[in-house]
Amino acid sequence: MAGVLLRLRGVEFDMFDDGDGPCRLPQAHVVNTRTSEILREVGVFEEMRSLATPIEKTKSIEWAESLAGRRFGKLDLVKDEEALQARIAASAVHPLNLGQNRFEEVVVRRLEALGGRVSYGHSIVRAAIEEGGAVLSISNTDGMVSERRYDYVLACDGARSIVRSSLGIDMIGPPSLARYASAYFTADLSDLEPRVGGQVTFIGGADVRGVIIGFDIQTTWALMCVIPPDLTADDFGPDVMLELIHRAIGDRTVAVQLDGVGSWNMSAQIAETFRSGPFFLVGDAAHRFPPTGGLGLNTGVQDAHNLAWKLALVLEGRAHPAILDSYANERMPVAKANCDHSVTNAMRMAEVDAILGVPFLAPVEPTVVQRPEGSLPHLGIDGDDDAADDKRAVLADTIEQQRPHFDSLMHELGYIYDASEIYAVGAHDFRPSVTVGGRLPHALIEVDGSSVGVHDLFASRDAFLLAGKDVDLVKLPPLPGVGVHRFAAENGIVAPEGLVLVRPDGHVSWVGDQQRIEALPSALARLFHTDIRNAA
Ligand SMILES: Cc1cc2nc3c(=O)[nH]c(=O)nc-3n(C[C@H](O)[C@H](O)[C@H](O)COP(=O)(O)OP(=O)(O)OC[C@H]3O[C@@H](n4cnc5c(N)ncnc54)[C@H](O)[C@@H]3O)c2cc1C
Repeated sequence: MAGVLLRLRGVEFDMFDDGDGPCRLPQAHVVNTRTSEILREVGVFEEMRSLATPIEKTKSIEWAESLAGRRFGKLDLVKDEEALQARIAASAVHPLNLGQNRFEEVVVRRLEALGGRVSYGHSIVRAAIEEGGAVLSISNTDGMVSERRYDYVLACDGARSIVRSSLGIDMIGPPSLARYASAYFTADLSDLEPRVGGQVTFIGGADVRGVIIGFDIQTTWALMCVIPPDLTADDFGPDVMLELIHRAIGDRTVAVQLDGVGSWNMSAQIAETFRSGPFFLVGDAAHRFPPTGGLGLNTGVQDAHNLAWKLALVLEGRAHPAILDSYANERMPVAKANCDHSVTNAMRMAEVDAILGVPFLAPVEPTVVQRPEGSLPHLGIDGDDDAADDKRAVLADTIEQQRPHFDSLMHELGYIYDASEIYAVGAHDFRPSVTVGGRLPHALIEVDGSSVGVHDLFASRDAFLLAGKDVDLVKLPPLPGVGVHRFAAENGIVAPEGLVLVRPDGHVSWVGDQQRIEALPSALARLFHTDIRNAA
């Protein structure tokens, strides 16, 4: 995604990847609203949407004995009509449920259409800073190692980043909160579709537990189970995982094709710095969260979105290189906040376990598959007696407490750069507002007789000035590279005499009004850090 964003601004670069193409297995699947906005900006949202699960199929998160078996509870992803309207008003787009393999394929096609190229089969084996420049040692498809020098390097090489370790940048935080065995599989579960509410089902059966992820909620799935501390991924080979999948589906008549097994660490780590000289850490190279919250890929895309325009303007000489320091200053606090949120979400899951007495994400003994399949005992939630009623009510309430994990517009859209609180206090109740450092709220506006989303304006300019309907544009000073839009009518974003300066990434840089029009050039100089150049 960093490559697409840079190509859109005309930046030339080399791009290396040690794989042989986009990832094959689906892995991440939640594309949140902010990432969807970025996909729209780069022209691939509609294609991604056509590949994603139809939105009406992503209704709820479920807790069940198996996909076919007893349901314990569910969380509707859209709480009520008010929440639905808030989501519709918040953005021109919506979240997607889409496997990372499909996501990457679309992004690579877009990159190629823009004249970029990924050199697959090329592995970075060392990174160093020499005479202020970046040096990479690159092993090619024949295993030949060559050295290349670059002005800047974006290290998007994932959680085990060689660039990061070569530069001696440590990760802060626990490397492994839990280790998961994962199995990706193809199975036509369309007969179960009415029972499978959405993309995530937590499975807590007598003979299997874990989480089932539905990538298209029809044929492409994954099962993740926690590995006991004294065992390794080798104990969860294909035979064990296949048996666990059958048990998690709860219907042995379903044909299952195993597409891959693996393992991964649930970590909560942030790099001690996101920048070292000409190197920038982006995505999992900079941060690793538990997947509870679906923020890993999303935070990485948003890192790239923060950095690409700054780098492009520096390379064109229109911004001072000091602007590049703002990448780490702005993104590290967001990564930390998202990491904390993901850890809290993971911990809060235990509350459901405690109510039901079913340890959904406790370690699984692989030997469980040698025992006959069984059924859970009575959990106290069945029947018509008062005790069952009470327990169902407590369970429903406890599941509702999980909402910030699965449905938090605040974490999707509400991060504010350079603020003492990254997310506004009271965090889960997102109220869009024009705040310096925050993403400009979405609004539909009229441009040349058509209705467009206000965020559609920003990406191609150095900055954008939004003016209220009564602002006299003739009084504006010359603003090279800056787009200007005056609202035709009153709106919820800019007061009639107001001015709002927006960065190319849609974040608010300055808020003023007609009386302070002469402050605009210095606001722009601060944005591009050219005030530093002038002061020097
Ligand atoms: C089970 C699970 C579910 C998840 N679900 C979600 C979700 O729903 N939403 C979400 O936002 N996130 C989710 N995540 C997290 C998400 O998968 C990661 O955050 C995301 O893949 C990180 O992207 P990345 O590009 O930074 O790193 P990666 O996806 O790891 O990509 C790194 C790339 O660099 C290449 N590379 C690595 N080393 C080198 C080298 N030395 N030389 C050359 N190339 C190299 C690799 O081949 C790879 O292509 C999930 C993670 C897991 C484990």
